Amino acid sequence: MKIKLDKQRFNQGLERLKLEYKILAPVTKPFKGTFSDTDLTKYEEIERIEDIEFHKKSNFSAKEVILPINQILFYFTEKEFKTSDVDEKKLLVFLRACDLNGIKRLDEIYLNNGMEKDFFYERLRKKVKFILIGCKESYRNCFCVSMKSNKADHYSMGLNLREDEVYLDIKDEDLNVFDGQKWDFEVDYVKSNNISVEIPRNINAVELSKHEMWNEYDARCIACGRCNFVCPTCTCFTMQDIFYKENEKVGERRRVWASCQVDGYTDMAGGHSFRKKQGERMRFKVMHKIHDFNKRFGYDMCVGCGRCDDACPQYISFSQCIDKVKKVVNGEEK
Ligand code: SF4
Ligand code: SF4
Repeated sequence: MKIKLDKQRFNQGLERLKLEYKILAPVTKPFKGTFSDTDLTKYEEIERIEDIEFHKKSNFSAKEVILPINQILFYFTEKEFKTSDVDEKKLLVFLRACDLNGIKRLDEIYLNNGMEKDFFYERLRKKVKFILIGCKESYRNCFCVSMKSNKADHYSMGLNLREDEVYLDIKDEDLNVFDGQKWDFEVDYVKSNNISVEIPRNINAVELSKHEMWNEYDARCIACGRCNFVCPTCTCFTMQDIFYKENEKVGERRRVWASCQVDGYTDMAGGHSFRKKQGERMRFKVMHKIHDFNKRFGYDMCVGCGRCDDACPQYISFSQCIDKVKKVVNGEEK
């Protein structure tokens, strides 16, 4: 059902939904950004539509809602363990098309990538419904159109905002709590970006891995891992066992986001380590996003949100790296 209503009526609907759902959306925190006098836009619980940031790309994606940065899996003693509890309340998440397409990639990795589904991911994922924020303007570094992630239709509700008027495309009957007037419209989507990329499809991964193009990143990349942490499709984690000070035989196991760009990521028992050079790590990340994931699932992992470029302190550009890969693969660059 498609309707339009004013912000006040929309907020009345949110009040009804809040009885059943915790509602999360991008929120701007003034002066909380990385550099002085910069803001931070990240996912937080909201009360009203006025809390939602509609005009900026969030620095972090909605990924952390279903894949928390730091998640307790279970508590243990010497003899037994207890799985962690999960909040009873369902979740409603406002996000843009690139990020909703990013969730599809997370689902592939955690639910469709082998015999077993990830229990901890699945139990949170089942509780979440998504509200698509219509996105009209491309932001700095976005290349979602090239990655075919500028549109998404697998949402529970779609939303356009025009001044004081809210347009809703309600697909999920459970969210049909808004008092509005029937109105036909299409949820906004970005039609072009300033940046476009072309992913080469004839990549010889072994040959490309030996190419000197990656050496540049040995010097430029400082292995901070920011590009991974802001990426809506990076899925790696590491495990931590925390033993309590009061009783060192009791504790909790957590999983924590990890980054393939930082030192120690490939360390193994016995001291062996793969991909010691930053260029090798860059190659691994780029190939995963535009080649390896595609080989398994039939589409690219990168959604072209451009957050890795936004966040990199060394101005390393993912889209320009894709361009270099294309030139090397097509023989336009030695
Ligand atoms: S690799 Fe960069 S552009 Fe692609 S999805 Fe991740 S953060 Fe966005
Ligand atoms: S954000 Fe930039 S410098 Fe930091 S690890 Fe990623 S590519 Fe390297």
